[in-house]
Amino acid sequence: MTSPQRIVIIGSGLAGGSAAAALRERGYDGGVTIIGNDPNPPYELPALSKQILLGDAEEPDWVRPKEFWAEHDIELVSGATATAVRLGNRVVVDDKGTEHPYDRLLLATGSAPRSLPVPGADLDGLRTLRTLDDSRALRDLLTEGTKVVIVGAGWIGCEAAAAARKHGADVTVIDPLPLPLHRSMGDECAEVFRDLHAENGVSWRLGVGVEGFTGEGTVSGVRLAGGETLKADLVLVAVGAAPRLELAKAAGLELSDSVAGGGVDVDSALRTSAPDVCAAGDITAHYHPRYERRIRVEHWANAKDQGTHVAGTLLGETTPYTKTPYFFSDQYDLGMEVRGLANPFTDELVVRGDLKAREFTAFWLRAGKVLAAMNVNMWDDGEALQALVDGDMTVTADQLTGAELSSLV
Ligand SMILES: Cc1cc2nc3c(=O)[nH]c(=O)nc-3n(C[C@H](O)[C@H](O)[C@H](O)COP(=O)(O)OP(=O)(O)OC[C@H]3O[C@@H](n4cnc5c(N)ncnc54)[C@H](O)[C@@H]3O)c2cc1C
Repeated sequence: MTSPQRIVIIGSGLAGGSAAAALRERGYDGGVTIIGNDPNPPYELPALSKQILLGDAEEPDWVRPKEFWAEHDIELVSGATATAVRLGNRVVVDDKGTEHPYDRLLLATGSAPRSLPVPGADLDGLRTLRTLDDSRALRDLLTEGTKVVIVGAGWIGCEAAAAARKHGADVTVIDPLPLPLHRSMGDECAEVFRDLHAENGVSWRLGVGVEGFTGEGTVSGVRLAGGETLKADLVLVAVGAAPRLELAKAAGLELSDSVAGGGVDVDSALRTSAPDVCAAGDITAHYHPRYERRIRVEHWANAKDQGTHVAGTLLGETTPYTKTPYFFSDQYDLGMEVRGLANPFTDELVVRGDLKAREFTAFWLRAGKVLAAMNVNMWDDGEALQALVDGDMTVTADQLTGAELSSLV
């Protein structure tokens, strides 16, 4: 296989940036171009809903130091949107009309926040949180007594609520589900997060949907099903994100309908259905041998690891990507990590430690195998947890609650 002369990457997020960096770190000396519509060099998103929103940092974690890209002869075309991929003549066109020829192409276009299709959704002042600019602008509005209404009690809604409370804002979070983080946590663990936020002064409106946003030009209220209208100085819509598939779709790549939200079908080495076109990060629906199905993972580690992995594929390797999902969150004094993938409504929950004290590890088991594990404010067992989630061993609830975890792996 000949080495490509030029690799073009669409998307300057964590997956795209990690891929470009890994190409150079592997010694690839051909042309590398990253086209990104964000004005900044590649950065990681987690600090946007944590340190930056909390006021503890001004800068995000950069994927590499800002000078890295020029120093490594990586062409960073920032503030430009790729508008078309012409597979036939191997060219990407951007919104300034510039053509970027490629031998191999990586799509790493990430996700965009979902909006709520309700009356008033077009009012000014409705905010979402995806970019560095979004985060800094939101932080500047979080002040003592500001009435903040957050629609959506997922990870970003919960982290934003914690930051808003730190600034003394008056925070209400609305979700149609009965508990925050319910889909990923199930009942018992989601109750831990509900209580944590309530103790920190968040008002919950759970089990109730939003019927519309109210205001004259600018949003000033949120109308709930049932008629109540909550006054708001600031509304954050945090109802999840959708993979940005427009380019892949227009180019005719195979898309998946078997993962929530859809995704770009990639094989185990992250190759799409088109020759010489790969995809990585939030947009991929990749077949995972452990789960025997395609999965799409919207988390930091997946973007970093797939980005790094796909560099090999762009250079002609065919090694499968097999990492199990991992993510983390910080809210108030609670830090947690989740490894693996489980269904909290059908898999067996085993808790080691103390849920009420918020110091515990939750395991989700199917037929005696640990499919996922979440450590909350417990940091010593990371390696054992990873081995349990990745391994094939069968364990009992008594072993998980009683034994040294390292003795089980
Ligand atoms: C606020 C926030 C906090 C998060 N915190 C955590 C966390 O604590 N833990 C965790 O595990 N995960 C977290 N995540 C999720 C994680 O950050 C994402 O899964 C990860 O960033 C995905 O990386 P990506 O490169 O695939 O996509 P993105 O980071 O979305 O990057 C894609 C980039 O491509 C650009 N782009 C899209 N289309 C085009 C185009 N046509 N032309 C040019 N550029 C384009 C986008 O603007 C964007 O800059 C968080 C996400 C957010 C939004």
